[in-house]
Amino acid sequence: MKNLISIIGGGISGLSTAIALKNKGFHVKIYEKNADFSSPETGVLLGANALHALNELGIMADIKKHGFSTDSWTILSDTGKELTEIYQLSKDYPTYTFIHRQDLIQILSQKIQHDMIYFNEKLSDFMYTPDGIDLYFENGKQVATEYLIASDGINSNIRKQIQPMKKLRYAGYTCWRGIFHNCPDYIKRRFSETWGPKGRFGIMPLSGNRLYWYALKNCPPHDPELSSWTTKELLYNFLYYHDPIPQLIDKTLDCHVVQHDIYDLDPLHQFTYDRIILTGDAAHAITPNLGQGACQAIEDAYFLSKSLESENELHLAFKKFEELRIERTRKITQDSRIFGKVAQIDIPFLCSIRNKMLSITPAAIHEHKLRNVFSLEENRG
Ligand SMILES: Cc1cc2nc3c(=O)[nH]c(=O)nc-3n(C[C@H](O)[C@H](O)[C@H](O)COP(=O)(O)OP(=O)(O)OC[C@H]3O[C@@H](n4cnc5c(N)ncnc54)[C@H](O)[C@@H]3O)c2cc1C
Repeated sequence: MKNLISIIGGGISGLSTAIALKNKGFHVKIYEKNADFSSPETGVLLGANALHALNELGIMADIKKHGFSTDSWTILSDTGKELTEIYQLSKDYPTYTFIHRQDLIQILSQKIQHDMIYFNEKLSDFMYTPDGIDLYFENGKQVATEYLIASDGINSNIRKQIQPMKKLRYAGYTCWRGIFHNCPDYIKRRFSETWGPKGRFGIMPLSGNRLYWYALKNCPPHDPELSSWTTKELLYNFLYYHDPIPQLIDKTLDCHVVQHDIYDLDPLHQFTYDRIILTGDAAHAITPNLGQGACQAIEDAYFLSKSLESENELHLAFKKFEELRIERTRKITQDSRIFGKVAQIDIPFLCSIRNKMLSITPAAIHEHKLRNVFSLEENRG
């Protein structure tokens, strides 16, 4: 029997999209290449815009239970001097909510039925037919579907096939992420980023007495030296940064640290291709500087659901979805890139000028710029 809608990828995007469609009465099937939902041990920032979308999708209570929320984000110098505090960007939802990635995936996956997800199914190819699309999987399975949603992440093979000229852009820096368990009381639990000549270091509190941290350093892509760094080299690099940065690195086990080079996707002009739509990182991979990649994937699900309210036919709803999403995700991709360029300045002289400028600029100016990113309401289209 032919599927009506098939989703490739069981990440944040595939799962949120499946929930949105299920809420609208569609039976979808998700095909995930991995054997289960396991994901790296990291945290995720969910902005007020994502919380708003999750609330509309009926998932707010679980997020509240597992997340840690705050309205303030402090940017510090390497010596610990407060440069600015970006405060409350939303009236209706906490501006920043931090959650363990595995908790978020679990919350989302519990909202779909077991018979909607197929593991160990890696899509290898697809082909248009007169009335749909044939999907071919690496294990030899073949499935016919009327519509296809590509939620297969930043390296999406579906996107590469449809848009072979669109390339990923290396942002110029690599990122380590770690989780510090059993955080002692004397360590202040606040959302902060520290900008200095030896790199950028962020701290996000998680529920259950854990802190999620990330460190970013400029380097060429696939740098063999930096990709072999353990917490020992990271500690040496950030040794003179203010407390509690050295302690956090020192006390985090290497098995709790992951490292990735940072890329984004040159913005696409189209997310809908007849019976196929791209969502999440497959459509708009964003640098993590504003913590918006997963948030935009969740927004996609929300706006697809909205599009289904105004358009009866799926292909018209897909077109509407594209109209609502192209400009917003393009703008956030560019803003995030620019933010990263400023935050990653590591020449000492330029660093002190940047930090000085940041400290004398009223926080209201930063807040004004960020309010639109962290707000869903104004972007409904
Ligand atoms: C260092 C870093 C920090 C970040 N921090 C944040 C943050 O704080 N807040 C935030 O909002 N975003 C953040 N992001 C971005 C966020 O992680 C992504 O935007 C988000 O995970 C995208 O979800 P997705 O479902 O589109 O893609 P993915 O999470 O990549 O999921 C894609 C899924 O598709 C599956 N798949 C791939 N190919 C196939 C195939 N051929 N067949 C079947 N299945 C397939 C994969 O196994 C995977 O499960 C960060 C990113 C990085 C790199």
